Amino acid sequence: MSKIIGILALQGDFAAHSVMLKHLNVEPRLIKLPQQLASLDGLIIPGGESTTISKQITSNQAWLTAFADIHKKRLPIFSTCAGLILISKQIRPNQFSLGWLDIIVQRNGYGRQINSHFSKAAFTVHGREKIIEIPLIRAPKIISIGAEVIPLVQEQQQIYLVEQQHLLAATFHPELTKQTDIHSYFLEKVDKYKFTRDD
Ligand code: GLN
Repeated sequence: MSKIIGILALQGDFAAHSVMLKHLNVEPRLIKLPQQLASLDGLIIPGGESTTISKQITSNQAWLTAFADIHKKRLPIFSTCAGLILISKQIRPNQFSLGWLDIIVQRNGYGRQINSHFSKAAFTVHGREKIIEIPLIRAPKIISIGAEVIPLVQEQQQIYLVEQQHLLAATFHPELTKQTDIHSYFLEKVDKYKFTRDD
């Protein structure tokens, strides 16, 4: 049975994640309604504007219920940038969050749009190290991580990619590069968790 990976498509760069999944031979499903969250093997929450995405979620109880449900069932989730902000336990300055990922994060932690830049750092999978590109676009900065959170990509005390059990989250935009490594890693995670979907 092929995997069903949803991409939250309320706002932001969901289209770039779609392209990435298609490169990896996975047909993405754009999620625009809360009831669509129930029948997935994994979910991507894209970058964009966290306040805009959270406004839509909090204005509809059905979204909040559907999110609580997938979290309870430990659906594998890959969040990027604004998506990472949305699932973090603590956001500076304070705003709504789903509160799943045990990190403190500072919005726009590297400055404004004009300070957006590329970095590079090593990502090690299956014992092999690869240098990946790190596009930081009004990116959040991870201030601290809890005991269960594992940093997967970091450089000079900056953490760019973390994992907490079924959750994977990046402060940057791997979907805007040509490197598929992190999306592949997420798809492996989906296989590992073998989530039992509702349908
Ligand atoms: N600065 C944005 C926010 O706070 C995130 C930017 C992004 O997703 N590239 O939501």
